[in-house]
Amino acid sequence: MTCPQMQLPKNRTITVLDEADCCVVGGGVSGVAAAVAAARGGAKTVLIERGVALGGSQTLALVEPWMPTFAPESDTPWVKEVEARLRAEGCDTTDGTTDYVWTNPETIAFVYDSLTAETGVRVLYHAALTEAVVEDGHVAAVLVQTIGGVFAVRARVFIDATGDALLARLAGVPAEAGYEKTGRNQPMSFRFEMGGVDLERLARYIVEELGDDWCKTRPPFFEIAQARHRDIRYKLEPFFVRGIETGELTEADAEYFQAFTVPGKPGVMSMNCPELPADRFSASDPLSYSEAVREGRASMRRVSRYLIRHMPGFEHAYISREAAMLGARESWRIVGRARVTAADYYARRRFPDAVARTAWYIDAHGEKVGDYLAAGEFYEIPYRAMVANEIENLIVTGRCISVDFLTQASMRIQRTCMSLGEAAGVAAAWCVAHGETPNALAWEKIPQTVRSYVSVS
Ligand SMILES: Cc1cc2nc3c(=O)[nH]c(=O)nc-3n(C[C@H](O)[C@H](O)[C@H](O)COP(=O)(O)OP(=O)(O)OC[C@H]3O[C@@H](n4cnc5c(N)ncnc54)[C@H](O)[C@@H]3O)c2cc1C
Repeated sequence: MTCPQMQLPKNRTITVLDEADCCVVGGGVSGVAAAVAAARGGAKTVLIERGVALGGSQTLALVEPWMPTFAPESDTPWVKEVEARLRAEGCDTTDGTTDYVWTNPETIAFVYDSLTAETGVRVLYHAALTEAVVEDGHVAAVLVQTIGGVFAVRARVFIDATGDALLARLAGVPAEAGYEKTGRNQPMSFRFEMGGVDLERLARYIVEELGDDWCKTRPPFFEIAQARHRDIRYKLEPFFVRGIETGELTEADAEYFQAFTVPGKPGVMSMNCPELPADRFSASDPLSYSEAVREGRASMRRVSRYLIRHMPGFEHAYISREAAMLGARESWRIVGRARVTAADYYARRRFPDAVARTAWYIDAHGEKVGDYLAAGEFYEIPYRAMVANEIENLIVTGRCISVDFLTQASMRIQRTCMSLGEAAGVAAAWCVAHGETPNALAWEKIPQTVRSYVSVS
């Protein structure tokens, strides 16, 4: 993107809305984990979120279920705790067959509200980061746009959990975007939910009439899918190809389709689509992103109409909810003190300062790359991938840490981002309490009982 530059007035003053030990920007999957862990570690914590629900992709982008990491014993305490809280709120998270954690966005938002309230995290809703105030390699404050105007928030340690590495980039940390070979980001999706689905009729059609045994569970836990870019040929593919032939669907509409049931919402399916083609829409270009919203909404209507007309079980269905933000699988990634690459993934590399382990496959939509590790194997993610040389008091967490494109396609799933967030919060609180510098912290020197994850190296 090339746009002209303009001069802004200098010597502005601004009201300081809050001062904290730790300021987390982005209340998504990793940000809530970071904020609660920091608060539990004794840090006075403020969490800045531009939406009106915590959970980010899990709530605003309607992404569910939590996929398994495929790595043994990878769930850190926070992952287990949130799942237990969801269950306590009546959300039936386990299907008894797969390792998915089935969730629903409204329960997650409530659980995160409760957890942040209980731990004393101040949440600033409808507050969007706009600027970083940097002094000598140190973020002194962030500027946030709120319903009352633009204010400053000061803190000793900042955590960037925006998913887009926005705070890091504003502070001058180098970042990369997209696949090193093509420059393209992973495709975004504009997810939505459909209500009024007859799940039993749908399952009968898929399993008995189509002979599709791809989904190993049955309603109320059920999933349907097809992906034309994958090697595997799904039984549902001809159904979508027919839509292209009749002109009811575009090639892009039919490229990728997936839908999951939602616990606590009988007759509702959560659509992991439409997927916006990566060669036309970019998650790291604001103009292109905006075009993707319009095209995504139009595609959503074509796909839902097609399902209502032709998919048994959808006869009386309707769009019951659309996401409040596009689902971006990948946008920017910082270049940090360590950069985990596909070579580390394939070498199943361990790190003394590891903060999480995962073995979710390289799931690069759009680039047609998908690759698995053997059962029981995994790689680790080091703390140094969450900090950069340029800014001493900044920790970056979630899907925008320092990894190459293919590794990001593996580490981006929710459970791993939750673990990374938890580690960021533990590290922030430790630094506040012990006067240590976040980007120089040796995670492995923190006592094991305090760390959320201890390396197996
Ligand atoms: C379409 C799609 C399908 C997926 N499917 C699955 C799946 O089935 N299972 C799975 O486990 N994972 C899945 N993932 C991956 C996973 O959901 C994400 O990678 C993960 O949630 C990222 O977590 P995060 O904390 O980095 O970012 P997010 O959860 O996206 O959180 C970022 C937060 O920062 C906030 N924010 C951003 N900018 C600002 C700002 N300027 N000021 C204030 N707040 C800001 C956002 O509002 C948001 O709340 C999917 C992702 C996508 C996009």
